[in-house]
Amino acid sequence: MRKEDFPIFKTSVYGLPLVYLDSAATAQKPSVVIDKMTNFYQSHYGTVHRAIYKLSKEATFQYEETRSLVRAFLNADKNEEIIFTRGTTEAINLVAYSFGKAFIQPGDEILISEMEHHSNIVPWQLLVEDRGARLKVIPFDERGVLDLKAFEKLLSSKTKLVAVTHISNVLGTINPIKEIAKMAHAVNAKILVDGAQSAPHMKIDVQDLDVDFYLFSGHKIYGPTGIGVLYGKEALLNAMPPYQGGGDMIETVTFEKTTYNVLPLKFEAGTPMIAEVIGLGAAIRYLQNIGLEAIYTHEQELLNYATKKLKEINGIHILGNADKKGAILTFTLEKIHPLDLATFLDLQGISMRTGHLCAQPVMRHFGISSAIRVSFGLYNTKEEIDYFIECLKKAVEKMLWI
Ligand code: PMP
Repeated sequence: MRKEDFPIFKTSVYGLPLVYLDSAATAQKPSVVIDKMTNFYQSHYGTVHRAIYKLSKEATFQYEETRSLVRAFLNADKNEEIIFTRGTTEAINLVAYSFGKAFIQPGDEILISEMEHHSNIVPWQLLVEDRGARLKVIPFDERGVLDLKAFEKLLSSKTKLVAVTHISNVLGTINPIKEIAKMAHAVNAKILVDGAQSAPHMKIDVQDLDVDFYLFSGHKIYGPTGIGVLYGKEALLNAMPPYQGGGDMIETVTFEKTTYNVLPLKFEAGTPMIAEVIGLGAAIRYLQNIGLEAIYTHEQELLNYATKKLKEINGIHILGNADKKGAILTFTLEKIHPLDLATFLDLQGISMRTGHLCAQPVMRHFGISSAIRVSFGLYNTKEEIDYFIECLKKAVEKMLWI
């Protein structure tokens, strides 16, 4: 699907075609994103919001136009609810700091799940330590499905926030966010959803999901690095103090007292990532032209095909066998170390991830310290999966023989 849109696939790896199976870490960039950013730097570059000259007005227009694109991409109600951050990690840290300061008291509880990425664990640990609050963990079962009964038992009037991932970056599980949001709201808790792994692969509707915060990274949706998005319900964002102080986030500054800007600029201190925002806009346009539904269908086909082929290999253990999964396949192989396998496959032109995958608690759940992960993007093909499986079989044969 549209592989020709991505110039990186014209390059080779060790003289072999590049087979890129690490889109869950970061996605490759289509020409429309690269060209948009190059053109902006070459012909239109200027600062935003502050100046009246033509370049600045045009840059501001494109910057704010991207905010409208993101609003539509998430089906948020208002542009004021869309905050640009450096990425998912910064968006979570922003909420932990700012929501935490406004709403978390000693004895309050924050619920996260056992399948979270480190960036949806550590900011909450920092917060509860600071506020004298408690962090509790929703477990998942052997298939990698969240235990909603256990979740229900953990919920109480002490719960102030539930922070869960939409799709696990290790297990691939697609969590039932709408249901989780309903359960959280029933005890008056707020819900934050880590959309790093869902925004690139499926249509998101934050109003239908009824989530309070949703965040994602530009680089995983085929846009540039250094840009991410925090969606937050307007009333909540208005009730939260600024995360950082500096230019653009103020209304008036005196030495005695500073007043803050309105949303969304209240949370965008300093000169922002202008070219990155504009590149993100190009990525969103690109995804919308193809259609998220078409992307989802294509990637589900790849996932089902690859799962079936992988299961034919002796000694393989797939981590995560939920009924609803995103295009992520993580596994271990008996008697073969993930690093050895990845080194062998790299020499065949295949890029994939090994290690703890920034989710050490998930590794601990399965009693391992590392695993192998392949993940798919819109550009991957069945032929690439065939090649990967063929190389994998060769690797297993060689390594077991040694
Ligand atoms: N959450 C999940 C589920 C992720 O997969 C990632 C990236 N691997 C992150 C958060 C962090 O994203 P970023 O590094 O772009 O801030």
